[in-house]
Amino acid sequence: MTDLIPSWVSYANDPQCDFPLNNLPCGAFVQADSTSRCCTAIGDQVLDLHALEERGIITFGGTLRTGAWNAFMALGQSEWLRLRHQLMSMLREGADTGDQLSPHLVPLENVRMTMPFEVAEYTDFYAGRHHATNVGTMFRGAENALPSNWLHIPIGYNGRASSVVVSGTPVHRPMGQLKGPQDEVPHFGPAQRFDMELEMGAVVGQASSGRLSVDQAFKNIFGYVLLNDWSARDIQGWEYQPLGPFQSKASATSISPWIITTSALEPFRVPAPEREVPLLPYLRESGPMLYDIALEVGLTPQDGRETVITRTNYREMYYSSAQQLAHHTSSGCPMRIGDLLGSGTISGAGKNERGSLLELSWGGNEPIAIEGGARAFLQDGDTLVLRGHAQGRGFRIGFGACVGQVLPVQQD
Ligand code: CA
Repeated sequence: MTDLIPSWVSYANDPQCDFPLNNLPCGAFVQADSTSRCCTAIGDQVLDLHALEERGIITFGGTLRTGAWNAFMALGQSEWLRLRHQLMSMLREGADTGDQLSPHLVPLENVRMTMPFEVAEYTDFYAGRHHATNVGTMFRGAENALPSNWLHIPIGYNGRASSVVVSGTPVHRPMGQLKGPQDEVPHFGPAQRFDMELEMGAVVGQASSGRLSVDQAFKNIFGYVLLNDWSARDIQGWEYQPLGPFQSKASATSISPWIITTSALEPFRVPAPEREVPLLPYLRESGPMLYDIALEVGLTPQDGRETVITRTNYREMYYSSAQQLAHHTSSGCPMRIGDLLGSGTISGAGKNERGSLLELSWGGNEPIAIEGGARAFLQDGDTLVLRGHAQGRGFRIGFGACVGQVLPVQQD
């Protein structure tokens, strides 16, 4: 495992800092009334890459002056690495660049982060075995928990790019068509079982047409974000058969503001769990393609204190994002730069490792204790924060927080 690469930005060398020099995440920020500017984070600062390119300190064809990372991603992997190496040499301890770069460092606390990329399309998968088993047991009984295709196909559905929002954006409780088990007919009203899903989002950085191998798919992924797939369970329970979720998942999907690149995550690759049945050749991976990323979710009620309600790890997934992307293209489906692939809810085996309230409260029947109360599902005013990091020796690759507050139903 690699060690900390020291930087002349001193807080970057703190073991608890999310953004050491090893990380160099890709984000976009606004300050006062400026437009969005591409940036990276180092320590407790953002480095304004828009300004660096404007001044000719770095040159990437103007792609870093666009306010989103899509154009830069289109340049391809060798340019992705060139930027990383350039930033590393300029920010490394002992580099003689302090005078040149310092005017373009802005404290993180003085900026507002915006969407780091334009989401082309959004697909969400269902690739966590513990989650699929838990949900299947609740919806269909223990015998039919895993659908017969589950161990063969990374199951997914096409979501909505239009409702993907950046961390900090509040989310309104959705309205929808509801029909409880005792109801004879459905009615339209506010979702009563509003929930979260703890996921990782893979950002596709290269366009493709035609089938991709798992290895090619791995190379086409630019990086990862934390993702909260807000889910209205009561809308979902009524609508989901036979085509899967629709309006239950369409109100919002929150992502963390930094894309953590696959280069930063490289030292943390881990293999997928043991396969129960062999995968078809087009889905087999040539090496470890999951990552060891510790994850947690905090819930803070309105005017209350935070309780960490779950802790788990991305390595619990049965399918990697590379396998999901390869499967996504198996019919010849073209992929675009900026496509976002949700991993599926990440749950571990333990009771406190579940990635949704549906599982944590076992269908709402066993509310969990939080500071000053209990929760089966989310209440108006609740704020959720997703956090994640890969642990190195003396440093961590942090994702930054993915925050969202639940607001009451939006009035007309
Ligand atoms: Ca999901």
